[in-house]
Amino acid sequence: MGTEKVNLAVIIKNPSNKEEFLLTKQTPPPKFNDPEYDSYQDSDLWDLPSAQLSLLDSPSSSFEVQIEAEDNSLLEFLSRFDLDSAVNQVLGQVGFQKATKVKWNVSKVVEEPEFGPGVPVKTVYIVRESEPNAAMSEDRFKWRNTKDCADFLLEVKPHNDRIGPLVVDGLLTDSIELRTLNIPTTLRSQEYPPGVKLVPMRSRTAKPFHTTNLVVFVPGTSYDGMGGDNFIASGDALIIDPGCNSAMHKELEQIVTALPRKLVVFVTHHHHDHVDGLSIVQKCNPDATLLAHENTFRRISKDVWSLGYVPVLGSEEICIGGQRLKLISAPGHTDGHMALVHVTTNSLIVGDHCVGQGSALLDITSGGNMSDYFHTTYKFMELSPHVLIPMHGRVNMWPKHMLCGYLKNRRNREAAILKAIQEGAKTLFDIVAYTYAEVDRSLWIHASSNVRLHVDHLAQQNKLPEDFSLENFNGSLAEFAGSVGKL
Ligand SMILES: [Zn+2]
Ligand SMILES: [Zn+2]
Repeated sequence: MGTEKVNLAVIIKNPSNKEEFLLTKQTPPPKFNDPEYDSYQDSDLWDLPSAQLSLLDSPSSSFEVQIEAEDNSLLEFLSRFDLDSAVNQVLGQVGFQKATKVKWNVSKVVEEPEFGPGVPVKTVYIVRESEPNAAMSEDRFKWRNTKDCADFLLEVKPHNDRIGPLVVDGLLTDSIELRTLNIPTTLRSQEYPPGVKLVPMRSRTAKPFHTTNLVVFVPGTSYDGMGGDNFIASGDALIIDPGCNSAMHKELEQIVTALPRKLVVFVTHHHHDHVDGLSIVQKCNPDATLLAHENTFRRISKDVWSLGYVPVLGSEEICIGGQRLKLISAPGHTDGHMALVHVTTNSLIVGDHCVGQGSALLDITSGGNMSDYFHTTYKFMELSPHVLIPMHGRVNMWPKHMLCGYLKNRRNREAAILKAIQEGAKTLFDIVAYTYAEVDRSLWIHASSNVRLHVDHLAQQNKLPEDFSLENFNGSLAEFAGSVGKL
């Protein structure tokens, strides 16, 4: 299988303190070369050094690097990859010399859950003791133990250094007490930051994704009434966006049944792939408290949720097992769309405002709005989140960079649409044909709602030329589908 993706993560122990291992400062994504966007900087991210393993043409047993594992099938698996170059690449990151005589042990293999798009990535963790006097670059590495890392992850201060997911998966899940959740064995999950569990579950979502991340938050301490009336809802566990399709309802049932009874359910917005599992939650735990924006709730079918709900607007707080989470009004994708911050880990759960890869769509039929989308994007950046958790795809460790990328792409698209208008495009069809000339025509219908959102946004900013008539433009919407059909 040539499509396999395997990552090698390296745990190098400190020769003078076996508790400590080496972390390297991760290289941020490339700058935008634009002063506005480059002024938003994510804080330093530290994680285990790692490199991608590339497949060899044929399996090899004669590596310079010596790797030992208890499991022979694992060694056989590894013999298909170029271990030497990956290990040397990792050592190069910290300024170590090539070390051929050192033995490495495989400490664990972690396969990520089905985040998509593409196949799940496997990470092989190997461990060794470092030799003294290695010439390492001081500003790019640090020795840390698991307790330091847990403290950094669990008591976050904005702008502080951050600790990445390889440390959590490779070391922390074995050494600090994470509450074990009853996730069905057929499902894989990821815990990042510690305490926040992501379970991608098959859903009626849009390509290139197949799953919606169910977020499960169970701090493990019981809610004891602390905080009094300041919280709009309290409980011992929280789940966000139970949106799996009916084929996964048995698994969802197992998850919900295993959770504490004092359960809070939050939905970011009403789309099928975020609420399809609500009926199961209601069946397993009719006492659960549902939180949603009013515009979200009224679009949820009574077949899915027939009980009451607590309307929220954003800026409310909830308390789960003694921990604080802040709701955030986040319109743009839809008019009722909301996000949520887990305060102690400074993690931002963004709903569909962002997706793990590619750009998010706005739903023009449910109040999706470009101006709101920009506004929410800036609001998210001001929060300086340590990690961004989307409902489709992987967690993102460079939140500000990702959000700036969204702003930049949308501004470029809007500039292209304005240029089309300035050059005489008057109707929806004219503008789509001009702006999306390079794009396959089967996607034009889809692109057209994006154009409408941008034209509305240009009008709001008074950027449209005087000879452009919004009235004519709006009148041209109906004929658009016909024009595309005739092509
Ligand atoms: Zn959505
Ligand atoms: Zn979605």
